Amino acid sequence: MEHPKDFPDYRGTMQYYCLECGTTYPIDELYYTCPKCGGVFLLEDTGRSRLTEQKNGAEWRATFDARAATKTTSLRGIFRFYELMAPVLEPEDIVYLGEGNTPIIRASKALEDYAGQPLAYKNDGQNPSASFKDRGMACAFSYLKHLVRKNGWEHVITICASTGDTSAAAALYASYIGEPLKSVVLLPKGKVTAQQLAQPLGSGAQVLEVPGVFDDCMKVVEYLADNYRVALLNSKNAWRILGQESYAYEVAQWYDWDLAGKAVFVPIGNAGNITAIMCGFLKLLDLGVIAELPKIIGVQSAHADPVFNYYRQPAGCRVYEPVTVRPSVAQAAMIGNPVSFPRVRSLASAYEKHGGIFAVVQVCEQEIIEGMLKVNRHGHIACTQGGECFAGLLRAKEIGLLDKDELAILDSTAHALKFIGFQEMYYTDSFPASYEVTPRDELKNAPENLIDSSRKDALDEQAFTREAADNVVAKLGLKSRG
Ligand SMILES: *Cc1c(COP(=O)(O)O)cnc(C)c1O
Ligand SMILES: [Zn+2]
Repeated sequence: MEHPKDFPDYRGTMQYYCLECGTTYPIDELYYTCPKCGGVFLLEDTGRSRLTEQKNGAEWRATFDARAATKTTSLRGIFRFYELMAPVLEPEDIVYLGEGNTPIIRASKALEDYAGQPLAYKNDGQNPSASFKDRGMACAFSYLKHLVRKNGWEHVITICASTGDTSAAAALYASYIGEPLKSVVLLPKGKVTAQQLAQPLGSGAQVLEVPGVFDDCMKVVEYLADNYRVALLNSKNAWRILGQESYAYEVAQWYDWDLAGKAVFVPIGNAGNITAIMCGFLKLLDLGVIAELPKIIGVQSAHADPVFNYYRQPAGCRVYEPVTVRPSVAQAAMIGNPVSFPRVRSLASAYEKHGGIFAVVQVCEQEIIEGMLKVNRHGHIACTQGGECFAGLLRAKEIGLLDKDELAILDSTAHALKFIGFQEMYYTDSFPASYEVTPRDELKNAPENLIDSSRKDALDEQAFTREAADNVVAKLGLKSRG
């Protein structure tokens, strides 16, 4: 494969770094947790100081901006920020399925007036499998491809537990690469939406269902990863966190690298996304690409809120405790014991050390679903987790976390259509009581019958059209043109 002309020359020296005990490990093996202490990893490039020597902040900004116009596919997605991501990959390793560079849409005046705050959505549902998980998968699969190429592996089973979107993304990337990869996903039976189940099935993955919730699936997958030869694609996989950092880079670039007066809202489930986003902004600060960190506000439902509970306690004497989740419309974030919690703790304190503000707010189920319905009535395509961000914005404003003109950037982590069953439940008043959602008529919508099917047989085509049209006129009170 030809080396694209604009592909960077820089190569980093990456290693796994254990957040618990500080031990480092080489990246030529797949590690998920520290063999010594069981801690989770982040990946670091020990050569990164060379980047600061190579170019100053302005020059890096210019480099990333210039790459926005490239037609080199290996640099078009999340690897536009190659030097900050996985600068050990070669162009032929990089899998690009159109992920990243999702649009940021400023809210309409009507919605901003309602919220009392300027806001915008970053539509991460416009990724190829319709959620942000593609960012991490693009990185994890590119690295896997790199390992397969270097080691000549003949069979690789990729496996993940999922609240739905991880498996959709994993199955998509695995099916694109094909041999020698085989994709297996574990899903909590009945706890993913029909769309999320259809995705890995459509990509040809082997789908295994487990009774229970995500946390139950996760335990099975962890046991397998500890004892058998499988490539684990859950967010224990630090390469996924790395890929998800691209969200932060894109937000910064969209606002011309000026993050003053901005607050980034992120729903927290397994806490990989919020970790990655903080990591990303910190790297940009370190490289002099940005001068100021944006506020980071995590959002959790009262039905799955271990991270909120931790940060609600006074600094210095916080105790982390997993929770038992209850049903949540923000189903993709319905996690009681987030794998990346240690990462959040570590990154949040680094964030604060560098002058950033980090907070977590809690919202209720009613606010989440109505947040989604409300914003989508104003031209957005937010999923329930995106609705959770909007609810989080209202909460943050209420408790004084936001400055008056601060721009709230909300993460719609998936496309509305993936979670459309919850809209249906709201509209048809069919929520099981455990969700604690009481639909209100003003936010409902339903199709109306315009004309009886019996009229189709009784009338000729012209008369049928006329009667249907007359019914529209009567319903809407239309005035004639004459
Ligand atoms: C996975 C997921 C989340 C939760 O993200 P974490 O990284 O697990 O905190 C939120 N929304 C959607 C749509 C997801 O797929
Ligand atoms: Zn360790």
